[in-house]
Amino acid sequence: MKSLQLLLLVLMVCLLTIAPLNAQDQPPTEPPADGGLDPAPVGTAVPLPTRGARPASFMITQSDRAALHFFFQALPQGETALMRVVGNEIANVRALFLGDLIDFFPVDDNFYGLIAAGMEQPTGRNNPLAVYVTFTDGTRTTLDANVEIVLGSFIRQNVTVAPDRGYLLDIETEQSELARLESMIGTYTDERLWDETGFQLPIMAALTSPFGAFRTFNGTLNTRHTGWDIRTTLGVPVMASAAGRVVFAGTLAIRGNYVLIDHGYGVFTGYAHFSTTHVTRGQEVAKEQVLGTTGDTGRTSGPHFHWELAVNGDWVDSIQFLEMWMP
Ligand SMILES: [Zn+2]
Repeated sequence: MKSLQLLLLVLMVCLLTIAPLNAQDQPPTEPPADGGLDPAPVGTAVPLPTRGARPASFMITQSDRAALHFFFQALPQGETALMRVVGNEIANVRALFLGDLIDFFPVDDNFYGLIAAGMEQPTGRNNPLAVYVTFTDGTRTTLDANVEIVLGSFIRQNVTVAPDRGYLLDIETEQSELARLESMIGTYTDERLWDETGFQLPIMAALTSPFGAFRTFNGTLNTRHTGWDIRTTLGVPVMASAAGRVVFAGTLAIRGNYVLIDHGYGVFTGYAHFSTTHVTRGQEVAKEQVLGTTGDTGRTSGPHFHWELAVNGDWVDSIQFLEMWMP
């Protein structure tokens, strides 16, 4: 035990010694990661995400005419998972989970539903899921299941904001902006607006600051990070992650110039800190359509792109969503 502690101590001393050397190695023209406001204390950047292969699904419960399958064992806080209902003569499938109504989308005789847990959802084994299946003859059946919610893995960060943007550390500013966004991501479009190619990163560049981080600004304001940060410079085109409809394009205190896209079935993506935006509210956008260019508007002190994703009214890990297999 003693030798392990000694080894850890030696490692820490080594890391502390190496860190300043690395900082000096960086070219002076490159801005600090996310302008110093969204630092990347987790070391090397995460590799670009790719969508996973179709995982095995397993049956949870069934009636005489329909069966519920999960593609997951347990649902970590801040993550999304996929469910499937199979059966004959099914007209539609809806579910109720954590107070949210979920509509299932049909693909090749199967009905798929997205289930999500917010990053602050309490952990526990017994979270009831009720799945309502309506058949073409008008009859209905209910499939009942339980979803286990497990702890998510989130880091802690201390962030320092320049004095001239100190007004953005007001807790009421933070909360009113979140409430305004949550009223938008809490709506539900019963139509799949994304296409079969799915979702992708809005900028093909290194990820830095992760989703869900516990952040303390200037030692006073405690918040959670609702999205991922992507390393960028000013004026880089930002693409729509998937096809959808613009539900917000305007200026917010913390997110700066911001675009929010509804992709249908409870999925939304948000894009923050633009210098300029090229879309307006109500506009239909294609996947990879340019929404605007990166900037440093809002609560940031340098070029910094923040990308966030919501499912069924909760901010969830956008990278985990990209990596999840979907039909
Ligand atoms: Zn961010």
